[in-house]
Amino acid sequence: MTSLNDDSAAGRPMFDLEGKVAVVTGAASGIGEATVRRLADAGATPVLVDLVDCSDEAERLGGIAAQADVSVEDDIAAAAAAAVDRFGRIDIAVNNAGIALDPVPISETTPEHFRRHADVNALGVLWGLKHFTKSMPRGGAVVNTASICGVTAFPEYGSYTSSKYSAVGLTQVGAMELGPRGIRVNCICPTSVNTPMLWNFAEGEAEAAVLKAASPLSMIIEPEHAAALVHFLAADDCPVISGQPILIDCGITAGISGGIWEAVQEAVEREAGKGAED
Ligand code: NAD
Repeated sequence: MTSLNDDSAAGRPMFDLEGKVAVVTGAASGIGEATVRRLADAGATPVLVDLVDCSDEAERLGGIAAQADVSVEDDIAAAAAAAVDRFGRIDIAVNNAGIALDPVPISETTPEHFRRHADVNALGVLWGLKHFTKSMPRGGAVVNTASICGVTAFPEYGSYTSSKYSAVGLTQVGAMELGPRGIRVNCICPTSVNTPMLWNFAEGEAEAAVLKAASPLSMIIEPEHAAALVHFLAADDCPVISGQPILIDCGITAGISGGIWEAVQEAVEREAGKGAED
C-alpha cells in the first residue's frame, strides 16, 4: 500500500544513522559515552560535549569534541556552532549530561542544592533544545535523559526529581514546538544505571542490590541498554513517537515484584515473631 507519509527511513538498513551528525552531552562517561559509541557504530558522526575534554575519543570516532558546561547557554551555543561549522548541520541531539548530588530531605534542602540540579539537569536540556535544533533538518531527533525521578517520586530526591520533571516537561513542550518542523523530541527515564553516578553514592551498592531484587527482570540497567533506547529514538525507522517520557526500568514500575513482596512478607513475619517472643 502507498505510504501516506514522507517516510525518510524507507529502503535504508534498519536503524541506520549513516550521514547523520549526532551531538551528545555528558559524552565522557556512563550513558553518554555508551551512546556516542552506539550512534557512531550505526554510522553517525559524533560531536562529544562534556566538561571533560573528549578530543581523543572524538578523533577515534571521526567526530569532534566541544568542551562545554551544559548549564551555560553561551557554551552550548558555541558547541552547536562548532558542530555546524564543521559538519554543516546537526541531525540528532542527545541532551544527556546530568548530576545527582547527595540526597537530602525537603526539610534540609538549600537553594544551592536545588538550583545546582536545576542548572545542569533542566537548563542543560533547555539550552540543548534551543541551540542544537536551530539548523536541524526534517527527520531530526532530540533525545533527552530524564530519569525515573522525572515521572515518579523518591524520598530525599526533591531537587533531583524536580529537575528531572522539568526535563520531561521540556521534552513535551519541545515536541509541540518542533513537531511542525518534522523534529521528534523524546526522553528516556531510567532507574539506576551502572555508571559512575550510581557509585558516587555511599549507598550505591545497596541501591543496586535493592533495585535488582525489586525488578521483575532481576536486572540492573547497563549504560549500553540506555544507549540502545536512545538509538531507537534517534533513528527514524519509527518516526511517529514524540513527546514521550520512555521508562527504562527493568519492569519496576509495572507493579510490586515477587522479590519485594517476599522481602516485605519476611520482614512482617520476623516482626510478628519478635512480638510473640517479647
Ligand atoms: P555519569 O556521571 O557517568 O556521566 C555524566 C557525564 O556528564 C560526565 O561525563 C560529566 O562530566 C558530564 N557532566 C556533568 N555535568 C556537566 C555539565 N554541567 N556540563 C557538561 N557535562 C557535564 O552519569 P550517567 O549515569 O551516565 O548520567 C547521565 C544522565 O543519566 C544524567 O542526566 C543522569 O541524571 C541520568 N540518569 C542516570 C541514572 C543512573 O543511575 N546512573 C539514572 C537515571 C538517570
